[in-house]
Amino acid sequence: MDKNFKEEFTQIIKFEPPLYKQRHQFVKDLVEKYKPKKVADLGCADCSLLWMLKFCSCIEVLAGLDICANVMKEKMHTLSPLPVDYLQPSERSLTVTLHHGSVAHKDPCMLGFDLVTCIELIEHLEESELKKFPEVVFGFMAPSIVVISTPNSEFNCLLPRVMLYRHPDHKFEWSQAEFQSWALETARCYDYSVEFTGVGHPPTGMEKVGFCTQIGVFFRKYPQTRESVQSEKPMEAVYKTVSITIKISVISVFKAVYPSLKDEKYLQNAVINEVIFTAQIIKHRFMSKREEYSDDPERKSKFQPSMDCFSDYLGKVVVEKNMEPFVSGNEVYIPLTTIFSFPKVNRLCGSFEKLCKLIAGKVTLSSDGSAVMFNIEHENEEN
Ligand code: SAH
Repeated sequence: MDKNFKEEFTQIIKFEPPLYKQRHQFVKDLVEKYKPKKVADLGCADCSLLWMLKFCSCIEVLAGLDICANVMKEKMHTLSPLPVDYLQPSERSLTVTLHHGSVAHKDPCMLGFDLVTCIELIEHLEESELKKFPEVVFGFMAPSIVVISTPNSEFNCLLPRVMLYRHPDHKFEWSQAEFQSWALETARCYDYSVEFTGVGHPPTGMEKVGFCTQIGVFFRKYPQTRESVQSEKPMEAVYKTVSITIKISVISVFKAVYPSLKDEKYLQNAVINEVIFTAQIIKHRFMSKREEYSDDPERKSKFQPSMDCFSDYLGKVVVEKNMEPFVSGNEVYIPLTTIFSFPKVNRLCGSFEKLCKLIAGKVTLSSDGSAVMFNIEHENEEN
């Protein structure tokens, strides 16, 4: 290569966004495209990719594995649920776990994943570990998709300050041909197909060097294996088996179970809140209408509360007579059928029976249990 040409580029190559972000974005795009439910990040380091992936709504299980516990622990707190996750539990369930161990060892806790990511990992592996790696990832874990990224050594001539390798812990850096031949052979052995791509475009005129980071995306060609289904068993049971029968090679260092509406406890809270909120809205509109009519004695006699004023909420729902709110004595009654017809309540509960079951004993109801009851006298005093 022309020396001047090279020097010109080494001055100006700066990736925007930074290369690590482009790699993580690549994985996120892949997740959004294939919607895996269970994702494992091997060599997860400071958990930054895992943190980004926890916002992907399709993911229900996220796991990280690294041989260095300290680097994982540094920011693992960022994987814990936040107060807002408790205030507004998500509809999906999400469990995040971190394991301390090596990708050169098979461990049951690493089974059952749909997508396994190995971002800038393989170049950190010793020769003996690299030899075992394909059997662990493609043979044992056998997910439907594996993403492997690694530096492209052909790009190094354009990077200032890179003498031999880009990082002191790298054991090797491969050219495009070296990576592709390893990847194709691995794919052939374990019945996967592989597609090559990358992030970090070379400058114009230097396309031949390829991407700064080369990426192989592997797709399993055969259906789910028996072993991968096995991990559907509860984690604890698997761990017990591990501790009794074989030496523990992987240690669990973190587990966070996010609050989810799939958990009856959180669903009940959400339904109670939504029922009370909806009932308040209905009551408020009903009472304002009623007051409007009561100002005019002629209109008062004609007062007909109508659910029509909720047409924006109710859409095409047919409002029956028994869905109207009504006043009796000092109480105003909002029928549960009306509340159930509001889309959010309807979606949360799924059925009217479920709604009744979830709010029983938690919301003040009419004696027959068919309506939410508010005392208006009490309210007028407060006002
Ligand atoms: N994946 C991270 C960075 C990877 S750096 C990212 O996307 O930013 C490589 C990581 O692999 C390091 O954290 C290192 O501790 C880990 N590692 C090295 N050898 C390993 C092994 N045998 N098993 C698991 N992790 C390993």
